[in-house]
Amino acid sequence: TPYADSHRYTRFEDLQLDKELGHGAFSTVRLAINRVNKDKFAVKVVHKNKLKKSDVDALHVEVGIISKLSHPHVVKYFDFTQDRSHYYIVLEVVAGGELFDRIVQRVYYSEKEARDLVWVLLDVLHHLHGKRIAHRDLKPENLLLKSAHNDHDIKLADFGFATEAKKPLRELCGTPAYVAPEIIKEKPYGLEVDMWSCGVIVFILLGGYPPFDDSDGVNAMYACIKAGKFTFDERFWANVSQEAKAFIKSLLQVDPSKRPSAAAAMNHDWFTKHAMELSTTD
Ligand code: ADP
Ligand code: MG
Repeated sequence: TPYADSHRYTRFEDLQLDKELGHGAFSTVRLAINRVNKDKFAVKVVHKNKLKKSDVDALHVEVGIISKLSHPHVVKYFDFTQDRSHYYIVLEVVAGGELFDRIVQRVYYSEKEARDLVWVLLDVLHHLHGKRIAHRDLKPENLLLKSAHNDHDIKLADFGFATEAKKPLRELCGTPAYVAPEIIKEKPYGLEVDMWSCGVIVFILLGGYPPFDDSDGVNAMYACIKAGKFTFDERFWANVSQEAKAFIKSLLQVDPSKRPSAAAAMNHDWFTKHAMELSTTD
């Protein structure tokens, strides 16, 4: 469509920067409006003076990866440029805000809503992992909701730690509460680290609190992660199905080789049993 084409050829020079949409450890993301046709975009602005050489390399890897991805649930890339003080990455704007804020607002998700959301996340991971790309920073801050009225239609953002996993990875990265045990143990690791983080996300969606927290310090949290030690507190989990709990347990396995791939996860009882329930009650 002409609309899609006008998007595809949008360049940073055509845009007027507007209000802040969000920020992370490395960047501020701002709304930007095409001066001519008023189309809206998000521009990830990275200040150069905070960057080491390795950060600049990582930024180029991030752009290289997002520019090659094309998936309805991955934030679309349009342009990358720089001036003396900043780098600018032009992206599709995702207007509903962070899943993080939505969980905080709602406290927790119903199983149906969580299932719909996690299905999309697994579909995206299946796509990425099929290209041997590890995201390495899956968390609710990096899952953006398409609109304020829909709680499960997400787009994956922030490929700042993403990398091609052609051979075992060693770099320590991610966010402490979501990081897989093999990374903390400084073992070579692979795509399975994303499946672990996915398990943490499903736990938070259904429980309303994280499986591993640092209220006793980050080292105590790491010890729990390394041991795969978490519990389903009855006060919060009594009404959650056995399938959901089994699904979380399968993802939060310390041995990465035992975790399901994204495709295998999509075949878990948590999804398939529900599909059968639907077809028999229709
Ligand atoms: P960082 O690498 O600094 O963490 P992110 O890419 O995660 O940067 O962006 C920081 C925040 O900006 C996100 O958590 C989100 O709130 C917001 N954001 C990022 N990309 C978009 C986008 N395409 N549309 C709307 N908001 C976005
Ligand atoms: Mg981020």
